[in-house]
Amino acid sequence: MRGKDVTLDNMSITYPNGFRAVQPTNLTIQAGEFFSILGPSGCGKTTILRAVSGFIEPSEGEVRIGGQNMAGIGPNTRPTALIFQNLALFPLMPVWENVAFGLESRGLSKRDRRAQAQKLLDLVALGDQAEKKPGELSGGQRQRVAIARALAVEPAVLLLDEPLSALDLKLRQHMRAELRAIQKQTGVTFIYITHDQGEALTMSDRIAVMNEGRIEQVGTGDEIYSAPQTAFTASFVGEANRLEGRVMAASEGMADIETPMGRFRARNPHDLAPGAEAMLFVRPEAMLLDHVENQLLARMQRRDLEGAFLNLFFDAQGTELAVHITNDGQVHVPSEGDTKIGFRAESAVILPSGPLARTGQELAAQ
Ligand code: ATP
Repeated sequence: MRGKDVTLDNMSITYPNGFRAVQPTNLTIQAGEFFSILGPSGCGKTTILRAVSGFIEPSEGEVRIGGQNMAGIGPNTRPTALIFQNLALFPLMPVWENVAFGLESRGLSKRDRRAQAQKLLDLVALGDQAEKKPGELSGGQRQRVAIARALAVEPAVLLLDEPLSALDLKLRQHMRAELRAIQKQTGVTFIYITHDQGEALTMSDRIAVMNEGRIEQVGTGDEIYSAPQTAFTASFVGEANRLEGRVMAASEGMADIETPMGRFRARNPHDLAPGAEAMLFVRPEAMLLDHVENQLLARMQRRDLEGAFLNLFFDAQGTELAVHITNDGQVHVPSEGDTKIGFRAESAVILPSGPLARTGQELAAQ
């Protein structure tokens, strides 16, 4: 099997009711890459997948697979295969026949189909389960049968739409490693859709973060976590403390921002000029107790012990700030009165004010 690259060239999608689910998008996914599209519900992830698989046509621009424009080429003739969250295995067929199902139209003998299915079942570590019925397998095993079945047609690109979301947490975590291994072993390009940042960060070579029909940022997990380019990405991927204010001075990639809690210095990747409304983001693990640079006064509200980590929550003039520190048993933070906390300028970033990811509370209140 061999992966192919996938290019979206200025591609947008407007549904027949006039709703533009995907804004004009340029994106190249490399051949053999494990690429995730990460974003909240309704941001347009599945719509992009449908356009790549050929179930809908772009309204503008084009989809190219292996350099070939896919316009007018239907789902069955594209070099793609799709795996959904609710996989539909045939309950009365043994596992191997489920896997071989897609090979029937290829004129192979039953013997050859069985042999081909066996190879794929070995690949997903189910070689000894070939004669069982899907109902006799666990959820994770059934998911692996679905993967083997999708790979049977030798796709160059495998499209996976939240395939693990029906599984319990432990199995999901186990399957992340399995999927990643299967992808590397086959070399097939995987495009993986998820709203779960943990999944995207652990499995992907690169990730596109998406919000409201737009790609906000493309990069490795590390780049996205450590150097977010937009307020949405900084607030959606991982936890971040946020201070809002106005840029006061800027030079050599750094800037000063004036906020209600004081004036702070941080990285300025967009070269925002003085006067710009901006947001400063700093990860809880980059916060330091008794630090003199970028210092502010805050009062401790509560502390949660998470094994090796101590998560402290401070109030600074009505804003909650989280501080995660390694728990070495030596930490003493007074619960009364103000404490000095701070952060290094290099570990914080100033970004243009913009839409933020909704919090769990906001989503629950919907
Ligand atoms: P989820 O994670 O919930 O599946 P998603 O990011 O995959 O979300 P899409 O399914 O791509 O989102 O939908 C993007 C937007 O387009 C949503 O606002 C959705 O309501 C809208 N949409 C989807 N299908 C249609 C359709 N056939 N007609 C009109 N609007 C649609």
